[in-house]
Amino acid sequence: MSFSPIFQIKNLIDNSIELPDDMLLSIYEASGSTLMELFSLALELKEKYTGKKVNFCSIISAKTGICSEDCAFCGQSSLVRKKNKKTKINSLVTEAEIVEAAKIAKNNGANEFSIVTSGTSINNKNELNIIANAVKRIKEEVGITPCASLGLMKYEHLLLLKGYGLEIFHHNIETSSDFFPKICSTHSFKDNIETIKSAKKAGLKICSGVIIGMGESRLDRIRMAKEIKNLDVDNIPVNFLNPIPGTPLENAEELTPMECLKTLVIFRFVNPLKNILAQGGREHNLRQLQPLALMAGANGLLLGNYLLTSGRNPSLDIELINDLGLEKAEYVK
Ligand code: SF4
Repeated sequence: MSFSPIFQIKNLIDNSIELPDDMLLSIYEASGSTLMELFSLALELKEKYTGKKVNFCSIISAKTGICSEDCAFCGQSSLVRKKNKKTKINSLVTEAEIVEAAKIAKNNGANEFSIVTSGTSINNKNELNIIANAVKRIKEEVGITPCASLGLMKYEHLLLLKGYGLEIFHHNIETSSDFFPKICSTHSFKDNIETIKSAKKAGLKICSGVIIGMGESRLDRIRMAKEIKNLDVDNIPVNFLNPIPGTPLENAEELTPMECLKTLVIFRFVNPLKNILAQGGREHNLRQLQPLALMAGANGLLLGNYLLTSGRNPSLDIELINDLGLEKAEYVK
């Protein structure tokens, strides 16, 4: 595949012209000094549009356990329950536990904090009240941007949470619309889009991203970057599959660190103005190249543990950005 000159790519981005698929695909073939030039352009765009500060987001798994959905990457899906009958559903943690976790996240250096629950959605009044009250206290007492990831949600419930101070709603598209039926059969790509649209209508900022390494093609990754662009979301987390034993993807082919970094470059080129976060699975997939994520277009990292797998010690990520001469973003009310 012939490689497109950097000036051509830059020219199209500067003029807000969509990059053709073959041009983006050629990025996966780059190596050596050409690859460094691509990183350099991704870095230039990141600094131009999102500044030099690094966003750190942390999460709490506020409701953990088996879900009726069958997402192939997820250790909480109904497919895992079939294999492990002992897995149980835990009830939602208390408001106090959520607020305490937000305080710890802030002390560790996070400027955003997300309440994440397993299951199709949260529509039980009692659970909604716990989350809404926690959101209010996270905003007022803790001083960190509250975010929630609660599955497929109704507009009126999102509006209620917005009223309590929720700023960001997270809901991943997970993968491209074409590939989605291969990773989930219990809800559709369209269901995801409807939830995202409802959250937008409720006045919430949107965090919506993808997981790469689930068997999708490179072209699928380019399509997901473009599908996200069309949704015009605020934050785009790019997760790298860390296969969970017992899931259908437990033996998925490993990504290489360079494949991950090139995907970040593509997401920055397609979505130059947005926050792009290197999220779950970066330790497992990027290994020693983790700092390069912030040189390849990402301007944020997930700090601390993931949903079902451990992240690294937050102090290492603070050290990482200090060593790169970057600063962490602060919460602004
Ligand atoms: S809906 Fe969420 S918790 Fe349920 S299987 Fe899918 S990713 Fe896992």
